[in-house]
Amino acid sequence: TGLVVAMDGPSGSGKSSASRGVARALGLRYLDTGAMYRAITWWMLSHGVDLADPEAVAARAQEPVLTMGTDPDAPSVAVDGADAAGPVRTAEVTAAVSAVSAVPEVRRRLVAEQREIIGAGGIVVEGRDIGTVVAPDAPVKIYLTASADARAARRSAELDGTTVEAQKAAMARRDTLDSTRKTDPLTMAPDAVELDTTPLNLDEVIAEVLRVIKE
Ligand code: C5P
Repeated sequence: TGLVVAMDGPSGSGKSSASRGVARALGLRYLDTGAMYRAITWWMLSHGVDLADPEAVAARAQEPVLTMGTDPDAPSVAVDGADAAGPVRTAEVTAAVSAVSAVPEVRRRLVAEQREIIGAGGIVVEGRDIGTVVAPDAPVKIYLTASADARAARRSAELDGTTVEAQKAAMARRDTLDSTRKTDPLTMAPDAVELDTTPLNLDEVIAEVLRVIKE
């Protein structure tokens, strides 16, 4: 079976760019599992589901149909057949996603879909629980970290109009929610290689991950 590379870590640790770069370098597919949680969140918001009510979210968790594109040069996400790449990146979805991803029924559904997409392997998968829950047998597990300042600076460079301080506060809130939820919280797999990206540029992060894979 093909290689599975699990890339986990908190928001802003540089997972997406690094994961796509590694997939491209090795000719592998790429799956952004965060985009799946974001897509469900966007669907719930557009359908008027009360996100403060976990039972309401659970009751409709199976309804949205997701289609994920796994080409690292053009990753895509569609919900009920409509392109959702833009909507899933809005501040509204970012602020709401941790409430939705904490609902066990949502996680159960998406973990099953993620395993199906991973299939026989040949893929770099980024998220929060890939090395611990989705693909615990993955031969390569990387846990990316970075200082809070570096993470916030990267995010505000991506989304204009937000200050670094506001980014830092929003990220800290999301990471606390993601790390303290009851189901599949963000945590480093015991057999993962931790990589602090604070002093590294993107090419250096990719080179480091490729070095770990070759070991
Ligand atoms: O990676 P990204 O920031 O797009 O993830 C958005 C949110 O989706 C995270 O804050 C987290 O709540 C959720 N998530 C998750 N498990 C994953 C990937 C993302 O709970 N494997």
